[in-house]
Amino acid sequence: METILVLAHTENDGSLAKPVREALHAAATLHKSLAGSKFVIGLVGENVQAAANSIAACPATKYFGVMGTDFSQSRYATDAAAAEAICRVAQATIVVAPATSRWARVLSGVAQRLGGRADTHVTGVAAADGKISVSRWYYRQRMEGALTRTQRPWFIGIDPGSQTACECGAGSVSVEMVAVNLADGCKRTTVVGIREPKADAQTIRPDAQLLFVTGAGWTKKQADGQTHVPEAGKLILDFLKKSRASLGSSKSLVDQSGEGQAVLPFLSHLNQVGQTGATPRHAKGLSTCCHGEEPHTVGWRFIGERRAVNLDPNCGWARGKADVLYVADAFKVMAKVNELLARMQP
Ligand SMILES: Cc1cc2nc3c(=O)[nH]c(=O)nc-3n(C[C@H](O)[C@H](O)[C@H](O)COP(=O)(O)OP(=O)(O)OC[C@H]3O[C@@H](n4cnc5c(N)ncnc54)[C@H](O)[C@@H]3O)c2cc1C
Repeated sequence: METILVLAHTENDGSLAKPVREALHAAATLHKSLAGSKFVIGLVGENVQAAANSIAACPATKYFGVMGTDFSQSRYATDAAAAEAICRVAQATIVVAPATSRWARVLSGVAQRLGGRADTHVTGVAAADGKISVSRWYYRQRMEGALTRTQRPWFIGIDPGSQTACECGAGSVSVEMVAVNLADGCKRTTVVGIREPKADAQTIRPDAQLLFVTGAGWTKKQADGQTHVPEAGKLILDFLKKSRASLGSSKSLVDQSGEGQAVLPFLSHLNQVGQTGATPRHAKGLSTCCHGEEPHTVGWRFIGERRAVNLDPNCGWARGKADVLYVADAFKVMAKVNELLARMQP
């Protein structure tokens, strides 16, 4: 009989982030299709009671917690010790955890300590005839593989954004506290602060409905024989501000800064989508001034509806990679879109 444990950590404010609810959904669905399985939850954080209460309506029969100031911050030694202790007490055979940066770095280490195995970047968990399988993508999201394991405990890191988030409501639950004896050496590392871009400089928004992608065309010479980089930058930032879309880019455009060409200063390699970039998940994507080459479009694997604006009717998007291609000047299209958005907003 399998015991399915969902490992969760709280945020700074004591709440649970969306990836936890996604992992919960995946685990609860697995539990439902696995006759006789047990479903339990383990929480780690400075204080875990509020987090446990916030998901009280989920089908878990037991809640375990490791809490205290030693567990408020993300730190390998304390997170691994907490996860290990919970897994042991819960006698977990299947451990489902959201692949947040905090869990992703400890899961395989904890699996090693417990003689188990870990799989990362899992995007699907299922059970048929009592056999559990997980699926994940390979070769930069070009091939999907399904695999099973007999080794237990089996640690499954769920890619954030790949599942629907469970909507189990709040209530009141009792959490069984698990004691963890930490050696002093476990507390040597301290998080002294977080450096992040200002809210309005943060262009990568994983939860946005739309991914807006910019290509090198924005910095190329236009019909008048001139480049219009400042104008391009203004149109793009204006659109992002109004639409709250997430900003992606082609490799060619983000590489330009290293090649001494005119650049859009708000783009970095973190924005790059594709084979050597990110594979974001958004309901819709709009590509502008980007050719739609294969290494770029492999990053569009999980974009629901793809549209592109390109002057070239023979661009890569036109060859079956976009659902809709507008053969048009992106400068004109985005100026008009911004004008319409401005009219819609109060
Ligand atoms: C091993 C490998 C890995 C790679 N990995 C990646 C990756 O991860 N991500 C990635 O993006 N690329 C990757 N590439 C590069 C990729 O093959 C392409 O070269 C790159 O994506 C092209 O970028 P682009 O479309 O922005 O530029 P270009 O190919 O220069 O295309 C610019 C486009 O802009 C259009 N345009 C110009 N002006 C306008 C206008 N006013 N209105 C509308 N359209 C206009 C042009 O018609 C043109 O189609 C990789 C390549 C290799 C070999």
